[in-house]
Formats: sequence, C-alpha cells, structure tokens
Amino acid sequence: MQRSHELFERARQHIVGGVNSPVRAFTGVGGEPPFIARAEGPYLYDEDGKRYVDYVCSWGPMVAGHAHPEVVRAVQETAAHGLSFGAPTELEVRMAEKLKAMLPSLERVRMVNSGTEATMSALRLARGHTGREKIIKFRGCYHGHVDALLVQAGSGALTLGIPGSPGVPEAVVEQTITLPYNDPEAVRECFGRMGDEIAAVIVEPVAGNMNCVPPVPGFLEALRECCDDHGSVLIFDEVMTGFRVGVQCAQGRYGITPDLTCLGKVIGGGMPVGAFGGKADIMASLAPEGPVYQAGTLSGNPVGMAAGIANLSLVDTPEVHRSLEEATATLIDGLRERAQAAGVPVSFNQAGSMFGVFFTDKAPVTTFEDVQACDLEAFKVFFHAMLDEGVYMAPSAFEAGFLSTAHDTPAIEQTLAAAEKAFARVASR
Ligand code: PMP
Repeated sequence: MQRSHELFERARQHIVGGVNSPVRAFTGVGGEPPFIARAEGPYLYDEDGKRYVDYVCSWGPMVAGHAHPEVVRAVQETAAHGLSFGAPTELEVRMAEKLKAMLPSLERVRMVNSGTEATMSALRLARGHTGREKIIKFRGCYHGHVDALLVQAGSGALTLGIPGSPGVPEAVVEQTITLPYNDPEAVRECFGRMGDEIAAVIVEPVAGNMNCVPPVPGFLEALRECCDDHGSVLIFDEVMTGFRVGVQCAQGRYGITPDLTCLGKVIGGGMPVGAFGGKADIMASLAPEGPVYQAGTLSGNPVGMAAGIANLSLVDTPEVHRSLEEATATLIDGLRERAQAAGVPVSFNQAGSMFGVFFTDKAPVTTFEDVQACDLEAFKVFFHAMLDEGVYMAPSAFEAGFLSTAHDTPAIEQTLAAAEKAFARVASR
C-alpha cells in the first residue's frame, strides 16, 4: 500500500479529506483507501499492483463490468468528433428513445449530469406542477445532496453520522416530512392528516443507501394509492436500482408505476449522466414547454450519451438480468454457508444484482432500525479482512453491494475463499 499511502498523503494536502466524495475516505471503516490505477471486468487494480474483486462497481453503474470494450469504443469514437456543443445532437434523441423503449413509464425525459441533479429537478417539477410544497421522504434513504432531501439521509451522511447537514436552511427542511421506510400505515396516516398539501413522495424503491433493503409487500402499493387519492406525484429514485434490479428497473420488478423516475450512474456507463422523466403532462410543466425552470450546459453531452447507450445495450434483456440475479444468489448462498460454518450471525438481502450483508441475527432485515441494530464492529473486521484478501466491498455497513455480468465463477470463488477467512476473523475477535 506504499504508493496508495503516498498518494493519500498528497491528496489530503489539496483535496478536502483527500477525496472528492466523503464515503471514499474509509471514515466508516478506518484505515486508508487504496488508490485505483485501472479496472477491467470484475477487477480493480490499485496503484501498488494489487488486484481486487470489485463489489462496488463504481457504486452501481458498471453493471457490464469495468472497461467493457463496447463502452470504451463508444466513448473513443464519439470523443473524436468533439466533446460538447451546447446544441442538440442525434445521440440525445437515441438515448431518449433507448430509455423510453426500456422503461415505458418515461413518456418524456430530460437528461442531467448526476443523480443529485435528477432528484433536485424532479422535486422542483413536482412542486411546480402541483403548486404544493410539502414532500415525503423515508428515513435512511439517500437522494443525493439536495438541501430538501438531506434530512435523515442514508449513504455517506449516515456513515459519517451527519444525516442532516449544517448549511441546509430550516425553512427548506420544514417542508420535508420523513417517515419510516417499509411502513405503509405511517404513509396512510400522514396522507390522512395532510394529503392535499403533499406535492410528492420520493422513495428508493429498493433502499440501497442503508445497505440493501427491498420493499415489503404493500409498501410501494400504499405510496401509489395515497398519491393517486390526493393528487401527489410519486417519484421513484431509481438512481441505484435503475436497469440494475431488473430490465425494467424496480418499477417493473414490483409492478408499481411511478409518475416520475430519477435515473443516474447506470445510464452513463461510468460517465456523469443522470435523467428524470415520466408522465407527459407533468413533464410539460418543464421549461421550455412550461414554467418550471431547469437547465444544464453539459446535459446530454455526446460522450456521456454514447457511453450510456452502449452500457444500456449490454443489459437490455431479461436474460441478462436473470443470469445476474442467479450469480448474485450463488454468491449469497456461498457467503451464508461460510458465515454459518464460522458461527457468525449474518443476514442477507437481495434484489436482482444488488445485495446486502448484515451482521445481525434478524432475518430478513426490513427496516432502518434493523439496519442500525447491526454489529458495526463485526462489519469493520470483515471489510478489512476481505480487502486484505483482495475483495473490495463498499467501505460502509450502510451501502449495498453490486455484481456485474463480468463476475464469473473464478471471481466468485475467490470471494468465497476470502469470506471463509474473513468470517473466521470476525468469529475470533
Ligand atoms: N439517489 C440515489 C438512490 C443514490 O444512490 C445516489 C448516489 N448514490 C443519488 C441519488 C445521488 O447521485 P449522485 O451521487 O450521482 O449525485
């Protein structure tokens, strides 16, 4: 780790915390992060030449594995024709057509540059369209660092113990109602009290920022029903679940159609891309057709569009998702056996190729409280043991894991061999 250590020392002199996004700093697990030199298929290679099986997958988007030749070729060919024009291009039309063909609820879309931009814009649109200000979000869900949504937030905010943030005005978060995830009654009760004031409900249809917590039967249905009854906009934040938990995202998997969908990461194939879209009448409130303003100089830039279209084309059949899901189930079964053999209580969740490992004897984990009750010290020991053995998991007990189509049998077997040692280390603490 000599070169990574030197780079981290240099980084800390110039970059806040040495990183450009907090959870990369390993604050939740201790120690220093490896600096990554390159990646290919299911593997990352650090600056010291060590190889890792990667279950972070750039926090989701590398669903077809790293440096897939078709994605790389699309980027190279497109870049040669110019990087950005600030004027319409055919690639934007092709991206919109591709998204719409894959996800029928997207009657109209708007491209942006990140997941945060997608959720921020979708919220503004929902508020502008309904003329209401209150929104509902769920504790432990993360929707990017949007002021109104940095309330009881998951992901890095949760890992660092700052689920709300200084700098977010009281007046902004006063309009944000937070409810418990997977509790349909709490949603009905809230709508019963103030349903006609609620502009939107935003939800991760599979929570992936408090580790991985799929929706319980009836939860998403209750959101749909309450929004229908009160004229509120249902927003699915599929930045993580999009084209990841199934070929038609979480909305296809669970059979609930939102009014608006936020997408990110996956639709850029590793480039900074996001989108939001949905019902044509709601989207028509957006400038230039309507009065709700939203814009972006680099939105829909050709390189991002080309990378995204190539990435999506690699995962646009149910068969691909079926085999991803099977590989993920194989991994989880293997991890479960090894945890049991070591006598370590561990619970697992899975939605498609997203999974969660919880150091707890509660199964299944369905609530934010369940997640918070997990043994964080056990996770830290497990995480570092896995890293030592060449397996890179998210450096936080509050993040989901991801597989890609490149995670083949050798990669999974290496992971299970590492896990055997890692669970033994947890047991012998
Ligand atoms: N929504 C969800 C569900 C996310 O997981 C994330 C990022 N992890 C975001 C929004 C924000 O995306 P970005 O980091 O691209 O702004």
